[in-house]
Amino acid sequence: MTRRPLEVLCDFDGTIARVDTVDLLLERLADSRWRTLEDAWVRGEIDSRACMAGQVALLRGGWPAIERVLAEVDLDPTFARFVAWCRAAEIVLRVASEGIDRVICHLLARSRIVVDDVWASTLVEEDGGALALRFPAIRRTRCGAPFCKCALFPRRSHRPVRVLIGDGRSDFCAAGYADVVFASSKLAIHCQQHDIPFVPFEDFGAVARVLHQRLPLVTSAFEPASSAS
Ligand SMILES: [Mg+2]
Ligand SMILES: [Zn+2]
Repeated sequence: MTRRPLEVLCDFDGTIARVDTVDLLLERLADSRWRTLEDAWVRGEIDSRACMAGQVALLRGGWPAIERVLAEVDLDPTFARFVAWCRAAEIVLRVASEGIDRVICHLLARSRIVVDDVWASTLVEEDGGALALRFPAIRRTRCGAPFCKCALFPRRSHRPVRVLIGDGRSDFCAAGYADVVFASSKLAIHCQQHDIPFVPFEDFGAVARVLHQRLPLVTSAFEPASSAS
């Protein structure tokens, strides 16, 4: 079965998960130095990779402590149906996050949700029990930063139509390269301020409805003209 030349890349924290899981874990398990790193990132003094690496090293209690905190995290209740809808519509659905893969996979598995791929950093436990991050291999980002979601939107003539769904700062750069952007919260404000066309959304039901309406339009652009029969 060939899949539609359409990929949905969906942010996790604040988009699928109701809260930012990384911030929640830092608030509960790290000392206050994580805020200093966060502020430096927001001011643009360090990139997101340096910020995340420094912050994760501050987490105490290892995976068992993380799992206890994650018990409080709810996922958007409309996401599971959206995943099923994508599968039925033969749309590739990838989670694209600057957060932690094990956290994402744990929460998706808890809700018995299976996506096509999770792009995120890998959490590793070092010999002394300290936590560290391994970042996904990136050939090139569009913006030149070492770690950025825009790496998932390469400049290629033949590539699937890429849809970005997101809410925050980690989506700002990629929104400029996505073919269709669904934005809420800070990302919607960013798109407005930078003249990036976007579709505001409340939940994943709304995303599915809009994609369903636009599907022939977005996919036909990538079908050879001679394919009409
Ligand atoms: Mg987010
Ligand atoms: Zn970028």
